[in-house]
Amino acid sequence: MKINIIGGGVSGLTAGCYLQMNGFETHIFEKHSIPGGLCTSWEKGEYTFDSCAHWILGSDTGSSFYKIWSEILDMKKIEFHNHEIRVEVGTKTHANKYGEKNFKLYTNLTRLEEYMIDLAPEDTKAIREFIKPMRIMQKYDLPPIMDDLPFFQSMVRGIKMTRYLEFVYWFLKIKNYTNYTYARKFSNPFIRESFELLYDGDEVNMMVLSMPLSVFDKKSAGYPIGGSMNFAKKIEQTYLSLGGTMHYKTPVKKIITEDGIAKGLLVRNDATHFSDLTISAADWNFTVFDALDGKFVDQEMIELKELKKLEVFYSVMQFSFGISKDLTELPHFFRVPLEEDIISPDGTAYSRFEVHIYNYDHTLAPKGKTSVTVSFYTTQREFWIDARKNDRPKYRAAKTEFTNKIIERLDITLGGIKDHIEVIDVATPATFQRYTNNWKGSTQGWLPGKNLLARSPVGFHLPGLKNFYYSSHWNQPGGGLPIAIKTGRDVAKKICKDYKVKFKVIPQTK
Ligand SMILES: Cc1cc2nc3c(=O)[nH]c(=O)nc-3n(C[C@H](O)[C@H](O)[C@H](O)COP(=O)(O)OP(=O)(O)OC[C@H]3O[C@@H](n4cnc5c(N)ncnc54)[C@H](O)[C@@H]3O)c2cc1C
Repeated sequence: MKINIIGGGVSGLTAGCYLQMNGFETHIFEKHSIPGGLCTSWEKGEYTFDSCAHWILGSDTGSSFYKIWSEILDMKKIEFHNHEIRVEVGTKTHANKYGEKNFKLYTNLTRLEEYMIDLAPEDTKAIREFIKPMRIMQKYDLPPIMDDLPFFQSMVRGIKMTRYLEFVYWFLKIKNYTNYTYARKFSNPFIRESFELLYDGDEVNMMVLSMPLSVFDKKSAGYPIGGSMNFAKKIEQTYLSLGGTMHYKTPVKKIITEDGIAKGLLVRNDATHFSDLTISAADWNFTVFDALDGKFVDQEMIELKELKKLEVFYSVMQFSFGISKDLTELPHFFRVPLEEDIISPDGTAYSRFEVHIYNYDHTLAPKGKTSVTVSFYTTQREFWIDARKNDRPKYRAAKTEFTNKIIERLDITLGGIKDHIEVIDVATPATFQRYTNNWKGSTQGWLPGKNLLARSPVGFHLPGLKNFYYSSHWNQPGGGLPIAIKTGRDVAKKICKDYKVKFKVIPQTK
């Protein structure tokens, strides 16, 4: 049976690997010349800049995602770096008792607990209560591979099992808290302010903080040395070694349908490729409303398109700099307040400055030099997308204006680096959309709603269309690599079930 897959991102590659393992003939059609989609890094001059895998859930055996990654790449051949501190968050109003304004989010839970109690002994009880659920989560690793349900639904089924009762108790205790409401449990002003600023001033459900921290502590959410592209290429190598075929530089224009059955793809130069089944692992909006002309939708999908049900995840402005300086002494990742807001040409006012110093990955820059990125998340993506499309001089001028402001500020923050900048690269929401087709330059599909356990409105099928499957980070609000790989695996499993093939895996980690 022949299956065409649109998109060679992590989800498409994963689906391809498992389908090849199960005897299907697959072809991946990718518009770009490289694999990985959003899981990418790029070279400029002597430097490599990365834009994705700050941490990969399941980089070691402390998370059951390790088992899935091990099925599609040799995890022992990848060196993962586990940070001692996840992020340093600068406060504006309060300092700690040592006069320091940065709160350090340690990845080791014992260290984090000790650090917080040292700063705020008066909050010992609240601090211990903050750490405890994470310890419990560690005991009951979520079961992401137990069935073919999407991630959170499978989690719900998992926690229904009685052995998860302790987990359920603690989950229910914190599930309605956000970092803002939780901050009120502390009386120490520095800890309170730090908690509120953990997500750049956004109010985020506590599970979003607690779950990853419980895995960081087990050193199972590391950064892959060599960067995201290196990581994605390893999955591509597995796919090719299993006999899959990659068609690069082959943008898909339309999914050919006949009487409600997906028949094949219309690609560049109007060439056609017919197949028994079609999977789209590409952008949701493109798939449903461009490739299929909006012919296979229900009311819920129309409301999704009109953004009545969910919002699209933030896009990002990423400024990357190649700096001819050794910056090993500086924290690798921090967000600090600005004395004066930086106003983006898209109108967003930023009161904080997020800097990522890749001083822990020496493959990204020559000795004595460092790759550095500054990121600003934005919802004003149409400004960049429209300017690039309709007014290129305006787009270039906006990039230059913003970049100059960032350089001035970076020079202050890192202490005299201006004259050491050798390479500059600026990626806007238009860049992310252009290279990967993600709607509105989204970096992770849909933004999660308040209810993290709500049913995802995007499934594997479209109403009224046969022989078609959909799999990508748009399947589950919040997206990210775990969702991309999970949906890729689940869609392959579903196809095996639908066509009565016993699902098997050929582990790639020896
Ligand atoms: C700045 C940034 C930081 C991130 N940090 C993290 C992180 O630390 N941890 C984490 O887990 N996740 C992170 N993510 C998110 C993660 O990268 C994505 O959620 C994940 O890679 C999505 O994979 P995907 O395969 O579902 O989609 P995509 O990567 O979007 O892949 C879709 C593929 O389809 C191709 N395509 C689209 N349209 C067509 C067409 N018409 N014809 C042919 N091909 C087409 C695209 O070119 C692309 O290759 C980050 C993302 C960004 C941008």
